[in-house]
Amino acid sequence: MAMIHLEPQTLEMFSRALDGLKPPPNLSLSQWADKYRKLSAEASASQGQWNTDAAPFQREIMDAIGDVHIRKVVAMMCAQAGKTEGLILNTIGFYMSYHPASIMVMQPTVNLGESFSKDRLTPMLRDTPALRGLVNTKSRYSGNTISKKNFPGGMLVIVGANAPTDLRSRPIKVLLADEVDAYKASAGKEGDPVMLAEERQTTFWDYKTVMVSTPTTKAASRILDEFNNSTQEEWTVPCPNCGFYQPFVWDNMVFDKEKWPDGGVQYRCAECGCLDNEYRWKKGSVKGKWVAEHPERSVRGFHMNKMGSTLCGWDEIVTKFIAADLDAARGDYEKMQVFVNTNLGLPWEEPGETMESAALIDRREYYEAEVPDGVIYLTAGVDTQDNRFEIEVVGWGIGKESWGIRYQRIYGDLKRGQIWADLDEFLSQTWKKKDGTELSLRSVCMDSGGHFPDQVIRFCKEREDRHIWAIKGRGGMDVPYIRNPTKNNRVKGELFTLGVDTGKNMVLARLKVLIKGPNYCHFPAAEDAGYNENYFKMLTAEHKVTRWKGGRKVERWELKDPAQKRNEAFDVRNYATAALEISNPQGLEVPGEDAPRPAKQQHQYRRRRSGGI
Ligand SMILES: [Zn+2]
Repeated sequence: MAMIHLEPQTLEMFSRALDGLKPPPNLSLSQWADKYRKLSAEASASQGQWNTDAAPFQREIMDAIGDVHIRKVVAMMCAQAGKTEGLILNTIGFYMSYHPASIMVMQPTVNLGESFSKDRLTPMLRDTPALRGLVNTKSRYSGNTISKKNFPGGMLVIVGANAPTDLRSRPIKVLLADEVDAYKASAGKEGDPVMLAEERQTTFWDYKTVMVSTPTTKAASRILDEFNNSTQEEWTVPCPNCGFYQPFVWDNMVFDKEKWPDGGVQYRCAECGCLDNEYRWKKGSVKGKWVAEHPERSVRGFHMNKMGSTLCGWDEIVTKFIAADLDAARGDYEKMQVFVNTNLGLPWEEPGETMESAALIDRREYYEAEVPDGVIYLTAGVDTQDNRFEIEVVGWGIGKESWGIRYQRIYGDLKRGQIWADLDEFLSQTWKKKDGTELSLRSVCMDSGGHFPDQVIRFCKEREDRHIWAIKGRGGMDVPYIRNPTKNNRVKGELFTLGVDTGKNMVLARLKVLIKGPNYCHFPAAEDAGYNENYFKMLTAEHKVTRWKGGRKVERWELKDPAQKRNEAFDVRNYATAALEISNPQGLEVPGEDAPRPAKQQHQYRRRRSGGI
C-alpha cells in the first residue's frame, strides 16, 4: 500500500477542517444545558451559566426528555421547581441547537403563549450564545414572529390550547405541553387540544411528548391521569443521619403550629426517626435519586413537591400551610387547595363527605301501609352486638329506590338460645302492602364480627335456603363491595367479605339523592317503625375525611363526633344494601348504572348457588 507523506502543518489543517464536520459530542439534555445554557437576568433568580446541580432533581427528568428511546415524559410538579427554565426552555434549546426538529410549545391560552414567547423564550435566545444566531431576530420576516421561530433544520411554534385552528399546523416531532391542567377540556368543537397536537406527531417514529403541570382538582386533573399511567417516580434523598433514601412527605415536617415561626421546622426521618434541619437534609440532594413505583412502564412520570425542591425554603411552605389551615378550620378550603397543588404538587379533592341528620329526619313520610306500593323486594341487615341485634328491614323498588320499613332492636344474652329464636322469628315474618299482599325477606346479611362469629355463621348456614348470609366487614376504599363467599372458617359456613367503606360510599351517595325516584331513600314517620331522632344520629354519625399520609391522600370513614359513638344504623343499612347486591334481583337496576362487582363473578356465584338449592 502506498504511503502518502504529509507535512505536520498540513495534517493540522485537515484536522481543523474535519472538526467542523464531526458529529457533535453525545450530550444528554442536562449536559447540554450545563455546557451551553445561559440564564437571563429578567427571567430567573440567578443569572449566568445554567447548573443542574442547583436543582439536582431536574437532571433525570431532563435526560428522560432528551433520551431518544423515550416517547413520553410527564412531570406533575409543585410551583418553584424550575419547570419552565429546566424542562421547557432547556428542551427547546437542546432541540434547536443540537437535534433540530419541529417543536410545538402549547400553553393554556394564546395570550399565555405570547407572554411565554416574549418574556421567557426571547431572553434565552438572546443570552445563550449557542442559540443566538439560529433565529433571525433582526427583521420581523415571516420566519420570526412571536408564535413562530424558524431555525436551521426545524421550527418552533407556540400555540394556545384554546385556539384549535393553530393546532392544525404541519407535522411536529416534539410537543411540549405546559400547564396542561389549565387547558379547557376541549378546544371548541374541534376536540381535545393535546390529542389534536399528538395527531401531528404520527409521522415521526422518534416523536416526543412532554407534559408538565401543577395539578388542580382530582376530578379534572389531566396530569394526574397521565402520571397514574406512568412509571410514577418520586424524588428521594438520603437521611443525613442513617442514609435511608426517602421522598419528602408533608406528615414528617415537624413544627409548632401555635408558636410558629418560633422553633422553626425540622424533618423527621421515616426510617430512624431522627429530626434534622433543612440545610442538612437538602445537602443530600446531590445524591438524590428518583424511585419508580412502576419501573416496567414506558412513559416516564415524575412527581415533585416543594419540600424536596432546592429552589425554595421550608419556612415559606410552613407559613403558607398555617394560613391555609386556619381558613380550612373555618370551612374555607380555597387556600388549602392552592397549598396542596402548588406546594405538595398534588391534585385536590373536596374533603369530608357528610350528611346532616336534620335533613333526613325532615323527609320522614307516612306510608299508606307497612310496605308502600313501590316496594317489590325486601332485604334486611343485622348488626351483632354483645347484648342485642340491631336489624333494619329495607324495601327496594325500580331503580333501587328504597323505603325504610322497620328498625328493630332485639335484646338478650347471645350465649343463650332465646335471642336467636327471637331473631329467627323476626326474620321469618311477613310484611303487608295496602292491598293485603304479604312480602317476606328475600335476602339478609348478618354481621359475624364481634364476639360470636361461630354462632352467627352457624345461624346463617342453617338458613342458607332463606338467603340469610354471614358477612365480615373489611375496611379500605379500594376493597370491592362484595366478593364471592368462602367457607374458610370453623363452622364451614359461607362467609362473604364485605367492603364496608365502599358500601358506606354507596349508602351516603343514595342518602344524598334529593329527588324521589331512582336511588332515593324514603323513611317512615310511623312511630313504631323505629326511625326516631336517635336512628338518624346513628345513620349520619360518620363522615368521609381526607387525610394526608406519606404525601398521599388517604380517605376514610370516621366518627364525626367522638361523643356520638353509636353508628349501628349506618352499618345495618350497609348490610341490607349488601343483601340486595348479593341476591341481585332482576328488574331493579338503575338504567346505565353498573353493578358494584363484575357481572362475570356474579353469574358464577349464582349458578353455583342455584345448583345447590
Ligand atoms: Zn434516618
